[in-house]
Amino acid sequence: KLHEGELLRRKLHNTIQELKGNIRVFCRVRPLLPDEEDSGGDSAVVQYPNSGELVGHAIELFQPQGQKYTFTFDKVFGPEAAQEDVFIEISQLVQSALDGYKVCIFAYGQTGSGKTHTMLGHPDNLDQRGVIPRSVEQIFQSSQALQAQGWKFTMQASMLEIYNETIRDLLANSRRTSLDSQRSDGGTPAKQHVVKHEPNGNTFVTDLTIVEVSSWKEVSSLLRRAAQSRTVGKTAMNDHSSRSHCVFTLRITGTNESTEQQVHGVLNLIDLAGSERLSRSCATGERLKETQAINKSLSSLGDVILAIGNKENHIPYRNSKLTYLLQPCLGGDSKTLMFVNIAPDSKSLNESLCSLRFAAKVNACEIGVPRRHTNARLPEARLSNN
Ligand code: ADP
Ligand code: MG
Repeated sequence: KLHEGELLRRKLHNTIQELKGNIRVFCRVRPLLPDEEDSGGDSAVVQYPNSGELVGHAIELFQPQGQKYTFTFDKVFGPEAAQEDVFIEISQLVQSALDGYKVCIFAYGQTGSGKTHTMLGHPDNLDQRGVIPRSVEQIFQSSQALQAQGWKFTMQASMLEIYNETIRDLLANSRRTSLDSQRSDGGTPAKQHVVKHEPNGNTFVTDLTIVEVSSWKEVSSLLRRAAQSRTVGKTAMNDHSSRSHCVFTLRITGTNESTEQQVHGVLNLIDLAGSERLSRSCATGERLKETQAINKSLSSLGDVILAIGNKENHIPYRNSKLTYLLQPCLGGDSKTLMFVNIAPDSKSLNESLCSLRFAAKVNACEIGVPRRHTNARLPEARLSNN
């Protein structure tokens, strides 16, 4: 019988083999929605060269004048791809968090392109569950299976959003109230949350609610709490949820009772703010500030992923709250997956093109496309490369 540590090492090795590199970009095109179909929406502008396969690698966009743009990604999911088809392609990556890896999965795209559908979906509808519910369930199942081999796991969940470069705790109050009780106040105390990187490599957010979880049911009630908290923000701040990044984090600590070996994995699942450009005329005041904050943090994220892919010495983590928060989970031997979500209708063509260009830029790190250096100011934290 294999030693438990050896088993884990083999599994780890397989995972590495499986992933062949640490940055992946998947494209997902949602179907036309019923009301888009009713109003004569047209999805002929998006095509898949290797149609016939459920999961391809290329996507083509056609402009009315007949211009064609072709992009290739690690995977391309067309409108017929179900939530399960998507999850099958990422389950190894999710599993690696249990093996002690730090994993980030992002959804990028304009508002309405399917980011939340991909990341969250409908958690209470088995078929329609997205990445978060499926990942959490898989992790709990696998951790139980590993118990038989002497492994004990603790899981800690947190959920926050970043709006205008400010962190908001989406689980605030859950320390005091029981998980299933209704929140009466509906609001969150206006605490200032600060990201701290300690010299020992520990990262935390001050005053952030961390909940130890041991079942999908517990996580599901946290998700409901967070959704409520986001809705409150929405009424106050005008479609707040599409203007903020939502970060779900599961910290996993595994201890082997006989060998006392420990593994620390982190799974970050991030529903990014809408990437759409607002027309200049309507962006004034608060709206302009929001837009600038979103543009800045999305482009900083792109810069960071590209710099990591290019194995640059200096990674500009500090240019946005999101990248600063995720710094320990981006780069090194961490694993990153970006979904670029696309709406298929011809009205979205320009935004789709922008999203695909962003994703292609991030993806181009494999070929080593050089990148201009924007920050000559501060020395950035050095990427520790193992
Ligand atoms: P976003 O979070 O990017 O703003 P949503 O995830 O809310 O977009 O998607 C917009 C709408 O499209 C929602 O009604 C959602 O249910 C639907 N939708 C998105 N992706 C799919 C899909 N793959 N299949 C079916 N419906 C989808
Ligand atoms: Mg959304």
